Amino acid sequence: MRSERRRRRGYASALTAALLLPLCAAGCGPRAEPPRPHVLLVTIDTLRADRLGSYGHFNETSPVIDRLAARGVRFDDASVQWPKTWPSMASMLTGTYPATNGVVLAPHRALGEEQVTLAERLRDAGYRTAAVVANVNLGGGFGFAQGFDRFVESWAEPMAREGRKPDLVNAPGAVKRYTNATLVTEQALELIGACGDAGAPCFWWVHYIDPHGPYVPPEAHADHFAGSYARDDVHLDVIPKYQRQRAPGGAELTTDLGFYRLQYDREIRYLDTEMERLLAAAEARPGDRDVLILFTADHGESLGERGDALRHGFVPYQTNARVPLVLAWPGRLPAGHVVRAPVGLIDLAPTLLALLELPATGLAGRELVSALRDESQAPAYVFVESGHEKETQLAVRRGAWKLVRMRSFADRVRLRAPELALYDVRADPNEERDLAAQHPDVVRELDAALEAWLRGTPVHAGGDAAPVDEDTRDMLRALGYVE
Ligand SMILES: [Zn+2]
Repeated sequence: MRSERRRRRGYASALTAALLLPLCAAGCGPRAEPPRPHVLLVTIDTLRADRLGSYGHFNETSPVIDRLAARGVRFDDASVQWPKTWPSMASMLTGTYPATNGVVLAPHRALGEEQVTLAERLRDAGYRTAAVVANVNLGGGFGFAQGFDRFVESWAEPMAREGRKPDLVNAPGAVKRYTNATLVTEQALELIGACGDAGAPCFWWVHYIDPHGPYVPPEAHADHFAGSYARDDVHLDVIPKYQRQRAPGGAELTTDLGFYRLQYDREIRYLDTEMERLLAAAEARPGDRDVLILFTADHGESLGERGDALRHGFVPYQTNARVPLVLAWPGRLPAGHVVRAPVGLIDLAPTLLALLELPATGLAGRELVSALRDESQAPAYVFVESGHEKETQLAVRRGAWKLVRMRSFADRVRLRAPELALYDVRADPNEERDLAAQHPDVVRELDAALEAWLRGTPVHAGGDAAPVDEDTRDMLRALGYVE
């Protein structure tokens, strides 16, 4: 085990050095110290990869993000490990699977003190650490402040200042008064400014909650993309209560998914506009130090596919699992490079640690630096879990293949899905054509990989849900997490 770790560390280090070679061709000498850029980790709540221009979307939702992707490495096929905020981000930040760290959909546990987060690893390596989060599920009460010198919950100070909050539960969008992208950017700029000339590298984590529902884009973004509108009526029951809105001029709650899809895209455009200031501040190289930017999302969103609409976390399909992933480090990582092989967010922590030449012990993911030069070095399989704690739905990826195993009978009925289904997600991104009967050998192989993963993944001892106060409960309700 130890020699394997040493071999892999050496391998990653050699590859990092190889990526640095073009810079040194200009005449720099052997590098004695490992690189210590500032690190900016930006995570967007509920952002489907395929609603971004750089991932092929027809609406111009994301010019700022697309420019970032052009300056960095874009992973075209990245999956979260559980498409719900807390299990997804706990897995990404610890580099462990939800079953191992205990943060699953239900019960809604806090990330335990015994877990080691990316922020703790970077602080141990000399980084100053600061975060701003806009989703209450990532608050300090749920264990996400671990390792941060400063941890800003976007809502905390504005709520305390106002003294009396509006009715978050019954006024759609009111919660965004305390969590919107404009506010989050301002809070993040303050953290970046406070670090700039400290002489130490900084790690910033910024988690935006737009475009999480209810989709209520600010007025300046309320008219975009009208040309792409297509009416798509469904039964009102398909639309979660917290999402239900009246379309402009309408007296009744609208059942038109076409309207909600437009609103979703407008939210992304708003977020994208707000991110411009954040990226500019980081790219100004505070303290004359490089900035490595990591950009991704905690999960996607169902927009009506397979009868699942305007929510996330309950299906393992690409709509929920596939997220954007971009790594930008000008001069160090190849600009405009695209990795097509499937990867997981569980690989992000080991990848960052490899780039910084820091040890990556105790992590279940693998570094993706090797895959930049040779995609056969990408993870052999990528695993996704969703749904309820017992009898969760499972999925495994290899290349274009995706095997979905529905363990729960209720899920099979609800989604009209067989127990095992095989999809080619490149030819069939909405997973509508089950190819299991045509490719029994692939089904056997991927199902065996799932079994081996289930058997080989350490399981957390369990525990109760984290206690929540009244404000937290109201915010959870406003975002549809509790009824
Ligand atoms: Zn989320």
